[in-house]
Amino acid sequence: MTPEERKDLEEKIHAFVGREVSAPTRGLDDVNAPMIRHYCEVLGDENPVYTDAGFAEKSSKGGLIAPPTMLQVWSMEGYPMCQEPEMDVQRELHKVFDDSGFIGVLGTNTTSEYYRDLRPGDQVTTHCVIDSISEQKATARGIGYFIETLYTFTDQNDEEIGKLVFRVLKFIPNDSNEADASDDSGDDGMPETPSRIASPRGHDNAWWWEAVDNGAVLIQRCKSCKTLRHPPRPMCGECQSMEWDSIESSLDGEVFSFTQIHYPKFPGYPYPLVIGVISLSEGTRLIANIVGCEPEDVTIGMKVKGKVEQVDEKTMLPQFYPLPVDKK
Ligand SMILES: [Zn+2]
Repeated sequence: MTPEERKDLEEKIHAFVGREVSAPTRGLDDVNAPMIRHYCEVLGDENPVYTDAGFAEKSSKGGLIAPPTMLQVWSMEGYPMCQEPEMDVQRELHKVFDDSGFIGVLGTNTTSEYYRDLRPGDQVTTHCVIDSISEQKATARGIGYFIETLYTFTDQNDEEIGKLVFRVLKFIPNDSNEADASDDSGDDGMPETPSRIASPRGHDNAWWWEAVDNGAVLIQRCKSCKTLRHPPRPMCGECQSMEWDSIESSLDGEVFSFTQIHYPKFPGYPYPLVIGVISLSEGTRLIANIVGCEPEDVTIGMKVKGKVEQVDEKTMLPQFYPLPVDKK
């Protein structure tokens, strides 16, 4: 990008600062008990002050309240947002970035403040402005700009009930710089074949993935009471011992449950893509792909046999194949 192009871009983007993203939007539904219940179910939040009217009445809240973190939920656009969203100021801004090659987008963080509890019947209106755009920054992802969008929420009395700042990075992906650089080397400019999402490896589970890299599926075993557990974690749920070793799974199993992933399609994954919860003969369960058959042939209870296989350039994974059915 030349200095002139950069100046031109920065003039355009900074003109967005302070602009309202769209007219204030009243939530399609006012604060209501069924949505609160669904939210709590999905998040596994069992605090009865959100769902048990009798309990809530006697509590310091004096009645049912919504979880504070639902604030943005009350005015979200819902599924249409994923299909063909209407052009608003924020999307216009992103398009300005896209047109200059800043096609990457990464949500980096959000901060929120809550000023009062919301109760069934409250009405939430969202006001949204482009609050700030940073100077150009060099990040690990590539050069880019941080955009902060400020949401202010008001109630039926026009009083502020909370705020949320959402920060994204719009950037030129490093990979595309490399692709440009390699154009001279006779590369056809096509991105390399994408690989699957790398397994997150930390202190408590890296050992498990390292074994998979070497072709084995291990099952963690409590040294004290011998209970097997998966996924890997530091403490035995039965006896609270932190001492453990592991056994190798035979990868004999059966399908406990499964689903077929249709949307969104992730680059690097083969479709159709069937994900199973496999009950291993050792007694623990494992989530893995079911391959070697059509999705419609997968059934609950189906006997399967696993193999640790290389599924792309970087990834070893256990995959499960149907066992031939015994003919009687
Ligand atoms: Zn134990």
